[in-house]
Amino acid sequence: MAAPKPLIAGNWKMYGRQANLAELALLWEKTAGAAKAVDILVCPPAAYVAAAAIQARGTGLLIGAQDCSASGEDAARTGEISAAMLADCGARYLIVGHSERRAQHGETDDLVRRKAEAALGQGLIPIVCVGETLAQRQAGETAAIVAGQVRASVPDSGEIVVAYEPVWAIGGTSTPSLAEIAEVHALVRATLAGRGRISPPRILYGGSVGPANAGEILAVQAVDGALVGRASLKADDFAAIVRAHPSVT
Ligand code: PEP
Repeated sequence: MAAPKPLIAGNWKMYGRQANLAELALLWEKTAGAAKAVDILVCPPAAYVAAAAIQARGTGLLIGAQDCSASGEDAARTGEISAAMLADCGARYLIVGHSERRAQHGETDDLVRRKAEAALGQGLIPIVCVGETLAQRQAGETAAIVAGQVRASVPDSGEIVVAYEPVWAIGGTSTPSLAEIAEVHALVRATLAGRGRISPPRILYGGSVGPANAGEILAVQAVDGALVGRASLKADDFAAIVRAHPSVT
């Protein structure tokens, strides 16, 4: 089976203003030559998804969103945003189950799966985040935690992306070794195998990816791309990560 097209996804989290959407034009200037080899995705805050999609028109950049309501129907849910609305605004992908949502909002695997299903129901591709905390890694629980999250928070069918993001590697400077990344990605792939999914899932690595380490991480065979936080906010840095992918010549 042909390897899936790699995906480099930027998660702007709760950063940026309208003025930052100008970064998209700069990003495209620097990555247009790479877009045949790699899917390039930017997920701004929900308030800017529609404007980002308009800004990205005519380029090969993909726009996504972060989080959505678990409700697949319009409903009386003040403050929530549905997958249907985000799709209507031009989003193509949706990040769900990020460790910040799991930790700060108590999101469970079941809720994450229902959000991913809501995304699939609207034709969005969910990026389901999984990963262990430092305490869990130190206790030797990484495999059990990650496999458990994959089993319980990834829907059974549809086009899905899984992002392995060790919680302790997010927003810092340290990452797992390349061998550790390969090991957990193999575990995620094995856990997903044989569950009747239509498309082979892409498995991204996330956590302190930047221009300096992107090349070696993206060269790990089991890694189908990256989910990038801080370094996705600046076009120069994000473009350098995209261009570091070994399939970009
Ligand atoms: C993230 O929060 O998804 C992330 C990967 O952040 P950073 O790249 O800043 O570690």
